[in-house]
Amino acid sequence: MVDTFTRRTFLGCTAGAIGALAAAPAEELVKNRPPLAASAFYRLPLTSVRPGGWLKDQLRNQADGITGHLDEFWPDVGPNSAWLGGAGEGWERGPYYLDGLLPLAYLLDDPKLIAKVKPWVDWTLDRQRPDGSIGPEKNKDWWPIMIMLKVLTQYQEATGDPRVVPVMEKYFACQSRMLAAEPLQSWAIYRWQDELASLLWLYNRTGGPQLLGLAQQLRAQGFDWRKFYENFPYSGRIARGQSGHESHGVNNAMGLKTPALSYLISHDPADRAATGLMLGALDKFEGLPNGMFSADEHFAGRNPSQGIELCAVVEMMFSLELGLAVLGDARLADRLEKIAFNALPGAQTADQWSHQYDQQPNQAMVSLGRRDWTTNGPESNLFGLAPNFGCCTANLHQGWPKFAASLWMASPDDGLAVAAYAPSEVHTKIRGVDVVMAENTEYPFRNQISLSVSPASPVSFPLYLRIPEWTSDPVVVAGGQRVEGLRPGSYHRIEREWRRGQRVEITLPMPVRAVPGFNGSVSVERGPLVYSLRIGEAWSKLKQTGPVTDWEVYPTSPWNYGLRVDLNHPAASFEVHEDPVARQPFNRSSPPVMLEAKGRRLPEWVIVDDSAAPPPQSPVTSKLEDETVTLIPYGAARLRITSFPVLGPDQRPNQAEQQESVDVCKPE
Ligand SMILES: [Zn+2]
Repeated sequence: MVDTFTRRTFLGCTAGAIGALAAAPAEELVKNRPPLAASAFYRLPLTSVRPGGWLKDQLRNQADGITGHLDEFWPDVGPNSAWLGGAGEGWERGPYYLDGLLPLAYLLDDPKLIAKVKPWVDWTLDRQRPDGSIGPEKNKDWWPIMIMLKVLTQYQEATGDPRVVPVMEKYFACQSRMLAAEPLQSWAIYRWQDELASLLWLYNRTGGPQLLGLAQQLRAQGFDWRKFYENFPYSGRIARGQSGHESHGVNNAMGLKTPALSYLISHDPADRAATGLMLGALDKFEGLPNGMFSADEHFAGRNPSQGIELCAVVEMMFSLELGLAVLGDARLADRLEKIAFNALPGAQTADQWSHQYDQQPNQAMVSLGRRDWTTNGPESNLFGLAPNFGCCTANLHQGWPKFAASLWMASPDDGLAVAAYAPSEVHTKIRGVDVVMAENTEYPFRNQISLSVSPASPVSFPLYLRIPEWTSDPVVVAGGQRVEGLRPGSYHRIEREWRRGQRVEITLPMPVRAVPGFNGSVSVERGPLVYSLRIGEAWSKLKQTGPVTDWEVYPTSPWNYGLRVDLNHPAASFEVHEDPVARQPFNRSSPPVMLEAKGRRLPEWVIVDDSAAPPPQSPVTSKLEDETVTLIPYGAARLRITSFPVLGPDQRPNQAEQQESVDVCKPE
């Protein structure tokens, strides 16, 4: 076994035109150690993947926005945090912030952000108490430490800091001794699987058998997510008074990683199958058209005017990233992209300064108002600093950086997998050869992806390309040769000798799809992007906290349209328009891609309690005239209709009816 803790020595400039390798990851690839089951893929050490193109812009926007500055004006993660030795907040907010700030800092290789990260990590590593416990003395909850462990694993991968592994070993030994007397409580019971991820990370590096013992202790005390979903007790919105940890959105988003991680220990096929079981139940009973499920703050059914919390969005992404690595199921990557490219940007302003606690797929108005949430308060759908509650303010930061770090993975047969697609570059070593792969693309706004391979010397290895389930007639040309046998919904393996300068050209056609939803409505998807009605937005400032504004947003154009769509041939109902990708790609005024279609206003579909009423049962009828409506990416629309009622086929007016409707409607 190689010593995986020493800083990796990287030789020379082998990347040619792509760039120097100075920022290569500090750690070698680490695979699962017996008796753990093998994973389909292995996550590469943080900083193996370098974001490029629009994704780099997006991370840069984040660094220039709230993530790079939150500590300067929000006391909960400021210099008085108890996680820095101060008297302030000492629970989850400091670790949450670091769990996103740290990967952002190292992925951008940004000295200013790295300098912000270091004091937090140093304080935790250097202030471990003699009994092995870590974190603020006043914290008596296992949960926030579970987050800090995730931070430490990423820090180790990025820096190779030799302090991390011994601190984690000593901490886990401490916890193992204490768990009988101080068992998991409250949140920690439902979030133990997040510690399991860090625990298995350490086991793969040290092989300490006591770590697997601690995994069993945690599993015995923690919530059994698989059993819960095998008899899922909810069939939509929870009843009043029924809310508890089990129906809590963020808990469920975190819980989604449990069966895949458990499978590594149990080798039980039922654990392997349970990720699909969980997603199936969530989609069936609570599914929303943005790839998420409703929980505002608890399960709320499929009405697209219910909300989902931003913490649940970023946590579900992280669960999918871990689950994808274990299972290698391309559909998990499809889902990951759907959330990353839609629900994640849709809950933030394009400049990434203000965010929502709860976003709604049908969001006709953003206002301080009493909505029909299961639990949350009147601020919940404002764009602001900490609407409703500050957990998302602390936790939103992990979304983009962890997605970027998960784009590429290693395969057990010494290969590379393009797990998800976005502009990036990966630096790794394969069969002893330094390899750089550059991914040039404007995906998901375009359907072309170009990979260029730069091994230091010719080397054979397998490359796994994801063929998304939604594509049809994909084309892959590798080294000038057309690749046969591509199957949507799977990873396609290409094994060959790779030489410097070779390319892999991928075309993933994106036919427009009409996806059935609540009350017979449809949502419109093209590739991984969900499309929403572009509504005129009037932004009204509520308050200012440091650099962050809290906003209401009111519609300045109609929103209550039914869509004219041929459900048998939906692509024929839409015209696609492409424009350049802007520095802030998820912006309403110049989105990179738009769809045009025909729709008709539905006067009976109105606002109730500041939200669009549920879409009326489709098919719908309207006596008004057809209009051209513009749909833009969900993530670019802060006001939006995403679930559209479908106009009935009998409503295409013939000449006589048209005459009648004109007569009726003319205000003469
Ligand atoms: Zn939250």
